[in-house]
Amino acid sequence: MTMLSSQRLLAQDGAGNHIIPAVSVVVPVYNEVESIPHLIEAIASSLTAAQLTYEIICVDDGSKDGSAELLKQIAQTRIDLKAVLLRRNYGQTAAMAAGFNFAQGQAIVTLDGDLQNDPADIPLLLAKLDEGYDLVSGWRKNRQDAALTRLLPSKIANWLIGRVTSVELHDYGCSLKAYKSELVADMNLYGELHRFLPALAFIEGARIAELPVRHHARKYGRSKYGLWRTFRVLMDLLTIWFMKTFLTRPMHVFGMLGLLSLFVGTLLGGYLTFIKLVLGESIGQRPLLILTVVMLLAGIQLFSFGLLAELLMRTYHESQGRPIYRVREVVEPTINNRVGDK
Ligand code: UDP
Ligand code: MG
Repeated sequence: MTMLSSQRLLAQDGAGNHIIPAVSVVVPVYNEVESIPHLIEAIASSLTAAQLTYEIICVDDGSKDGSAELLKQIAQTRIDLKAVLLRRNYGQTAAMAAGFNFAQGQAIVTLDGDLQNDPADIPLLLAKLDEGYDLVSGWRKNRQDAALTRLLPSKIANWLIGRVTSVELHDYGCSLKAYKSELVADMNLYGELHRFLPALAFIEGARIAELPVRHHARKYGRSKYGLWRTFRVLMDLLTIWFMKTFLTRPMHVFGMLGLLSLFVGTLLGGYLTFIKLVLGESIGQRPLLILTVVMLLAGIQLFSFGLLAELLMRTYHESQGRPIYRVREVVEPTINNRVGDK
C-alpha cells in the first residue's frame, strides 16, 4: 500500500526525527468532501513514484460539508498529511497563505482540492523548477470549464494581467504551480492576490517558467466562484499596477494625473475666456460646463484617493504582521499516527 511504501519519504522518520521534505503540497479545501480521499491518494502515489520526500498540507477553509472532520480523521491515520483547519471561510488566498506558513519543504506546490489539477503533473513541475527557475506555473491548455462564463473572462484577464505586470503567462488562474520555498516565505497575501503570485515574484526578481499541464472537469461538488470574482480580480490588478508604478515612481502616477487635470482645466478656462473676452458673452450661466469640470475633478480625486487607500491597506497588512486567517486546529503527523499503518 502507498502508505507503507511511502513511509521513508515522510516528514518524520520511524524514530520521530524530523526530516525536511523535498516538497510540500499545499491544498486549499472548501467543501470538497468527496474529492479529498482520492486527492490525497493521488498526490501520495505521484510523489512516491517520483521518489520524492513530501508532505501534504490540506487547509480547510471553513468547510460546511464535513471536509474538516474528514481531513482530521485522515490526518490521524497517515504520516504524510497535515490538516490545518481555519476558524471560518477566509477565501482561497488566505487558505493558501496558511498552507505556506505551515509548509517546510524545499519546494512548495499548490493545487486545487477538487481534482481538476492532476497530481501526476507535480513531478514534472518540480523537474522544471530544478532547471533553475523560482516559479513554474501550470498552463491548462485544454481547460475543462464553461467557455462563456469562465474561459472568456480569464482570457481577457490573462491578457490584461500580462500587459500590466509584464509577466506574460497564458494561464494566471491555474492553481497548479511550484515555487522555491524562499519565494513564498515572505509574501504578504490578501484579497485574490494568490493569482498574482507570479507578478509579485517577478517584482522580486524571480525566474518564471510555464509548463502545460492536464486539466479535468470537476467530478464532485461545485465551483465556488462566479463572475463576481472577475470584478475582484480586476480591482486587485489595479492595485498591482499601482504598487508597481507608485512604489517606484510616485510622481509618474500623480504627476500624470495632475498634468492631465491641469491641461483639461486650462482648455476649459481658455474656452470660457474666449467666450467672455472675444465674443463678449456672459459665462456665468453655463451649469453644464461647470458640472463637467466638477465631475472631472471629482473623478480624478476619487481615483487617486482609491489608490491611496489601497496602498494604506497594504501598509496596514504588512505593518500589523497580522495573519489574514485564524487557525482553529492543526492535526499533524506524530509518531502515534503510525498506528494506522498496521
Ligand atoms: N477554495 C477555498 N476557499 C474558498 C473558495 C475556494 O479554499 O473560499 C478552494 C476550493 O476548495 C478549491 C480551490 O480553492 O480547492 C479552487 O476553487 P474552485 O475549484 O471552486 O475554483 P475554480 O476551479 O472553479 O476556479
Ligand atoms: Mg476547480
